[in-house]
Amino acid sequence: MRIAEELGLRVSPRLRVVALTGAGISLESGVPIFRGEGSMWEIPEARRLASRAGPPWNTRGTWEYYEWRRGLVSRCKPNPAHYALAEMEEYFEDFCLITQNVDGLHSRAGSRRVLELHGSMWRGRCLECGRVIELPETPLKALPPLCACGRPLRPDVVQFGEPIDPAVLSSALAACRSAELFLVVGTSAVVYPAAQMPLIAIESGARAVEINPNPTPLTPFMSLSIRGRAAESLPRLWKELLSSASA
Ligand code: NAD
Repeated sequence: MRIAEELGLRVSPRLRVVALTGAGISLESGVPIFRGEGSMWEIPEARRLASRAGPPWNTRGTWEYYEWRRGLVSRCKPNPAHYALAEMEEYFEDFCLITQNVDGLHSRAGSRRVLELHGSMWRGRCLECGRVIELPETPLKALPPLCACGRPLRPDVVQFGEPIDPAVLSSALAACRSAELFLVVGTSAVVYPAAQMPLIAIESGARAVEINPNPTPLTPFMSLSIRGRAAESLPRLWKELLSSASA
């Protein structure tokens, strides 16, 4: 049976679709994940640098760690899973991409509207005046980089225990409540509030599909679980949905 049929969905540009992505979608691009096999903590340099990063996050130590990560990501390219989501945004009239990733690979793949729950490693934020500044170049000329007001910037990344930008969060939650199809790709689903989002969508009536080589706490709630790698499974799912589309 076709997947759309199995899910009880009629695929058309009017279907309301939300995708939530996590570090797993970028693993095949070469960006290490946070937990499990292929994690950043298997790299001694990452462990050493991360141990010197910390509050107030506008320090040289923090930026040395982020410059290491930014340098790594700058050498990576988006993979077919990132591109599939960019194509979905073009096709569906009401499509929302929510990511926990801070690597910017969705935008590099052509996604135009990305709700970055945890911010971006390609921006800095001033603790003093609140300015947010794009920092696309790596390596940076000075560590820490400075704000226009002269104070050191911190990475515009939400650290554990910090609140998510309320505007980003409320847009994401509104999309979850109106989704008809919810895709969960490459997240261990242990970081909140992201982990709650698929459940909110399911409670509101969405059909949910997970793509992950490993089971997660969300797996029992899914309409369909695809045990596979994002770069292979997501384009395949997208092709399959498109082939059952009605005009
Ligand atoms: P996580 O590291 O906790 O979990 C990664 C998940 O990806 C796991 O469930 C794993 O089974 C799955 N996975 C592994 N290979 C995969 C593949 N090829 N295809 C699909 N899935 C695969 O990541 P998380 O749930 O996103 O939470 C980690 C937190 O760390 C997030 O808050 C995020 O901001 C941050 N983080 C971001 C990046 C990034 O920007 N690329 C990288 C590491 C961590």
